Amino acid sequence: MLKHACVLCKVVGAIAIIGALNWGLVGVAEYNLVDHLFGAGSVVSRVIYSVVGLSGVVLLVSYFVDCPKCNKY
Ligand SMILES: [Zn+2]
Repeated sequence: MLKHACVLCKVVGAIAIIGALNWGLVGVAEYNLVDHLFGAGSVVSRVIYSVVGLSGVVLLVSYFVDCPKCNKY
């Protein structure tokens, strides 16, 4: 579904995928890559989690509102 999406939707999707993969790592291997790379509770980690959360909100909204750019295809 992201194959023919616009650049913005692809970026939002990619960020959400990164967040999902990190959650998957936490669940499967008890390993938090974001915390490992940037430190648990550090400002950088919090910014990443916030951006991932924001991507989730954008994807949630996309259930109800069509992206005007993607709609051209
Ligand atoms: Zn789009």
